[in-house]
Amino acid sequence: MSIPTPLHQLRTLSVMPTYKCTAECSHCGTLSGRSETSWLGLENMITAIDQAAAQGDYRVVVFTGGEPTLAANDLFTAIRHAQSLGLSTRVVSNAYWASTSIQAERMIAKLIDAGLKEINFSTGDEHARFVPLDNVVRATAAAAASPLSAIVVMVETVRDRTITAKAIEAREDFAAIRSTFPRKRLEVLESPWMPLEPMKTNEYRDGSTINRHNVATRTGCNSILSTTAIQADGRIGACCGLGMRTVPELQVGRVGLTTIGEADHAAGEDYLKRWIRVEGPERILAWAATHEPSIEWEDMYAHRCQACMRLYKDPLVREVIAARYKEKIADVLVGEWLLYNYAGEDATPNSHDI
Ligand code: SF4
Ligand code: SF4
Repeated sequence: MSIPTPLHQLRTLSVMPTYKCTAECSHCGTLSGRSETSWLGLENMITAIDQAAAQGDYRVVVFTGGEPTLAANDLFTAIRHAQSLGLSTRVVSNAYWASTSIQAERMIAKLIDAGLKEINFSTGDEHARFVPLDNVVRATAAAAASPLSAIVVMVETVRDRTITAKAIEAREDFAAIRSTFPRKRLEVLESPWMPLEPMKTNEYRDGSTINRHNVATRTGCNSILSTTAIQADGRIGACCGLGMRTVPELQVGRVGLTTIGEADHAAGEDYLKRWIRVEGPERILAWAATHEPSIEWEDMYAHRCQACMRLYKDPLVREVIAARYKEKIADVLVGEWLLYNYAGEDATPNSHDI
């Protein structure tokens, strides 16, 4: 697209030190697991952080994965480096290391010493097959007692499950954390747990899937064109979405060969990414179905990244987009103008914080 995107925003660098994980969750959004062997390496982390800091529009570095704490000293060094350049830092972890309160406090102390500002813990029925919920509560207690400025517990959701945000809040030990540290920013959030294959569906609780009655309420994707992901295999992704690793079109470079600025520029030149930024994948999918009624989509998707996988992987949807995208150019440009001038926080969650 030759008209440059006017979007100016504060960007996030997502760094995945490894795809290795202590868990082996089905439908892991980054296909991470115990047998993974991809490591980004400290040098690549520092290169990406330096380039992001030099751009001036990056504010946060999020370390995720895989389980980022497996990178141990490399992780601590990278956090320290980002912090020394004025970037805020967040870690997303499954809290496997918090098998006792002392171990939880030790890890939090190391992260604090490195300069970490925020932490997210991922849990839910799938995670708990590998990491007990007790670990997450112990890690949360240690984090709440530390100078960390924000703690989020992110819970995966499908229809039938035992671990819910409500159940966590109802635990005595969790309630004790809240009452001991009432001023600490501590949130327990839920996010749909999606299969990576676009035509597979999970069962979700009523009202969480998209259909013709609610699709208009879906906002643009606030990850694409604002979060740049440095993946454990060195590829640079244009968002931090679940399944992003499996979509060639969402890859915009390779660390060491492509600068962060070049990767961001390449992403900003791509019409479909800009359209996703403005309207979100759900509305684009619904639009495609108006032109090709054999495209079924209603009540299939609760997580927007799975709807996005459909845009990129279903030949029929791709065909409609390729044939008719021009009719949406004016809408996309107007949408960008509105975002540029009046942008607030988008309501639809999409980040890979789980
Ligand atoms: S979902 Fe998280 S905890 Fe589970 S395998 Fe993937 S990275 Fe590990
Ligand atoms: S919807 Fe998900 S996969 Fe698609 S661009 Fe946004 S974050 Fe990436």
